[in-house]
Amino acid sequence: MGLLYHIKEWINDLLFPDYCLGCDRADEILCADCAGHLPVAGPAEDDTWALFDYHQPLTKKLLWRLKYNGKQRIGWRLGQLAAEKWYEDLAEIVLMTGEQKLIIVPIPLGTRRLRQRGFNQALSIAAGLHEHTRDLTELLPDSLKRIKETGSQVKTTSRTERLKNLKDAFGEVNPTIKNKVVLLIDDTTTTGATMQSAALALSRGGASRVIKLAIARG
Ligand SMILES: [Zn+2]
Repeated sequence: MGLLYHIKEWINDLLFPDYCLGCDRADEILCADCAGHLPVAGPAEDDTWALFDYHQPLTKKLLWRLKYNGKQRIGWRLGQLAAEKWYEDLAEIVLMTGEQKLIIVPIPLGTRRLRQRGFNQALSIAAGLHEHTRDLTELLPDSLKRIKETGSQVKTTSRTERLKNLKDAFGEVNPTIKNKVVLLIDDTTTTGATMQSAALALSRGGASRVIKLAIARG
């Protein structure tokens, strides 16, 4: 992206702090129209739910801006959209299991990555989801720790290598999640290896069920 693009974005941010990244309309960071036109991900598989298909320029742009431009409002808005889509499903789980609240746990970043970025994008999404499902959920952000810094997932190619890299990457599970249904939140799931590894740690820590919930599926 060229300098002009960045200048345009910078001016847009300055003049229209709440303009839609899809259509430039002064509205929310992602307006309802643009959100409604984003291609949705396929059906849930193996307790993995995903909202949008990652292979769409606007979806990519939203997630990129969230992670690397520090626009946490995007995460919050995506969490709100997740709540709109899954509210009924979550209410049904609460009803069927007799749980009082489902526990929202964002995938943690390692300390080094967190220091670099300054915030955890999964937590921004989790906060948006919780805000719009307060009667059904509880947000417990520090319920899982990343105990091993893993290399950039983009650089590792094979699935076996990723899995090896991620084995035992998570631990130190908060005992409050024992016998609870956990909603594990991440921005994107590609091979699903990261979420799988985190879900395994939560199950070992006593969670009765872990639903992996991502904004985009690659
Ligand atoms: Zn729009």
